[in-house]
Amino acid sequence: MTKRILITREIPKNGLTLLREHGFEVDVCPGTTGDAPLSQEELLSHLRQNSYDGIISLLTDKIDATLMEAAPSVKIVANYAAGFNNIDLAEAKKRGIVATNTPGVSSLAVAEHAIALMLALTTRIVEADLFTKKGKYKGWSPMAFIGTDLSGKTLGLIGVGSIGIEVARIAAQGFAMKILYYDVVPNEKIEKDYHAQRITTVEEMLPQADVVSLHVPLLDSTHHLINAARLNMMKKSAFLVNTSRGPVVDENALVTALKERVIAGAALDVFEFEPELAPGLASLENVILTPHIASARDHARAEMARIAAQNIIDFFDGKKPQNQVNP
Ligand code: NAD
Repeated sequence: MTKRILITREIPKNGLTLLREHGFEVDVCPGTTGDAPLSQEELLSHLRQNSYDGIISLLTDKIDATLMEAAPSVKIVANYAAGFNNIDLAEAKKRGIVATNTPGVSSLAVAEHAIALMLALTTRIVEADLFTKKGKYKGWSPMAFIGTDLSGKTLGLIGVGSIGIEVARIAAQGFAMKILYYDVVPNEKIEKDYHAQRITTVEEMLPQADVVSLHVPLLDSTHHLINAARLNMMKKSAFLVNTSRGPVVDENALVTALKERVIAGAALDVFEFEPELAPGLASLENVILTPHIASARDHARAEMARIAAQNIIDFFDGKKPQNQVNP
């Protein structure tokens, strides 16, 4: 019998085409006002309209027990993201629902975004752009917008999986940065290829780094990994970059630290209470914010669509999907 898949919002067409070529019926939830994520009620209402066999979900979709209860025919949830903290994996396993992700294919994009944020902080490019566009530029000034070099500085990486490794490569090979890393698993490759040094505690690493970049998944063990106490351990001249998940940083503590110049600046692509920003964050001069776009590149997104679709195809072909996250 024809299998029916719900894609919870528009994704690149190649994913839909691949599914349709393999005989799947595919429905895509219509866009919302302002391209906002679907509310839980909207998502449930779409799911109730048909007897879906699978879902391609986004990181903004909360795939919890209520949703699984409301859509008992769903056998696979293929997340269109490297992260999968939006899915209740234990509940899925209990119900025999397979969950998959799209790891690896967005790593280069996210790594480049993290490096772009580091450069934006050290070159003050965002402030300077705004200044120039506002007509404030009255001629070359010897003291305007003095930044700092990224090259030769020390980078502290927290998490060196697929994305962290790429950041280490660009930072070491492109900017001759000294790489320190903290990860629960040692990474011999970056130690050998980029002379990275493993530091066994976050506390030991923070005072040594000029830039700290976060690349861990959101887990109980990484929630508020950067908190007020740890921000206080960083150099006054240091920058924090977060392209991982918002709750890895205590955002209210960060606002205070930035206000009080405990650290020099921060750049965030992800937010603790996404899409809300912690009070005071947006009005700070020493912070750069991007709206969770680190993987928003044509190649990465097309690959994510292809892989999410392929995971579904493989599952209904009776194979174990390559990117199953709840074995
Ligand atoms: P990955 O699984 O390849 O690597 C994660 C690394 O973190 C691993 O090396 C792991 O050992 C380490 N780790 C896990 N728990 C830890 C802990 N408590 N302390 C220290 N290290 C720990 O994941 P990845 O593909 O590199 O992605 C990392 C995260 O980036 C994803 O989980 C996702 O949340 C986020 N991400 C964000 C975007 C974006 O658009 N901003 C895009 C893709 C991924």
